Amino acid sequence: KMETKVAIVTGGNRGIGFEIVKGLCQKFDGAVYLTARNEDRGRQAVKKLQELGLQPLFHILDVTCEKSIQDLATHISTHHSSIDVLVNNAGILDFDKAISSHEDAKRLIDTNFMSLLSISKILYPLLSNTARIINISSDWGLLSNVRKQVWLDTLVKEDLTVEEILDFVNEFLRAAKNGKSSFVSIAGHFGDYKVSKVAMSALTFVQQRQFIEQGKDISINCVHPGFVMTDMTKGMGDFTPERGARAPLYLALEAPQSLKGAFIWHDCHHVNWD
Ligand code: NDP
Repeated sequence: KMETKVAIVTGGNRGIGFEIVKGLCQKFDGAVYLTARNEDRGRQAVKKLQELGLQPLFHILDVTCEKSIQDLATHISTHHSSIDVLVNNAGILDFDKAISSHEDAKRLIDTNFMSLLSISKILYPLLSNTARIINISSDWGLLSNVRKQVWLDTLVKEDLTVEEILDFVNEFLRAAKNGKSSFVSIAGHFGDYKVSKVAMSALTFVQQRQFIEQGKDISINCVHPGFVMTDMTKGMGDFTPERGARAPLYLALEAPQSLKGAFIWHDCHHVNWD
């Protein structure tokens, strides 16, 4: 087993994730895993970084597939002692569709949010006691995107539970089944994406509390990377992907370990989530 530290980035083959991998290869003292759901796209991205003189490792990972997460966990526990940095970056959004079908909404929520629950179950046991988890949220993951009072009240509770976050997500998915107006009533246009990122942010705070209760020094934070020109936004945005990776890299490499359970803006400042 290698005693070096380990960093893992999901959805690392393009966009912001690729730039996070690049920055980690340059500055993280340890092994950096670029993971991707597609082997060819992943290996090509690795090659691009190798051409820059960097040395990422590769492992295939589809965050919606528990078997795939388990395979990564087996690989990591065979070759390394623990995970030190985990960047949950993989995500989807159809920028052309402000209102998705129920089926598309379900796929989006599975990818952007439910995957985090599988990752928690399967990868968190491998985290070192001072690990850092960085969840790539969004300004669409701020609580103010939610329109229903009951959820505004619930999601800010100090003793919020994962089950309550699931209730929120499931109510949204039921609404998406019932058509356009009930879909929009919960979080407006792009409601599936907003719900997935609000749920991600709320989960960040709940899991930070749980780590503290377990006596662990693990830091988990979420971050809005800015409006970034990637395939997801059809090239629109204010920032290059490299600039979008700045705040995630700050959380992975520079932030004090005492920064815990925070919502971080693209300029690396702490903002109020609610
Ligand atoms: P891109 O569409 O450029 O990249 C998304 C990445 O996620 C790709 O590598 C994609 O892989 C991967 N991915 C999608 N589904 C899965 C899956 N099931 N398993 C593993 N990987 C998967 O998006 P961005 O770089 O713009 O977005 C990165 C993150 O930043 C997302 O979480 C997004 O929501 C968030 N974000 C982006 C903003 C922006 O303005 N761009 C603003 C706020 C947040 P593949 O190539 O195989 O499709």
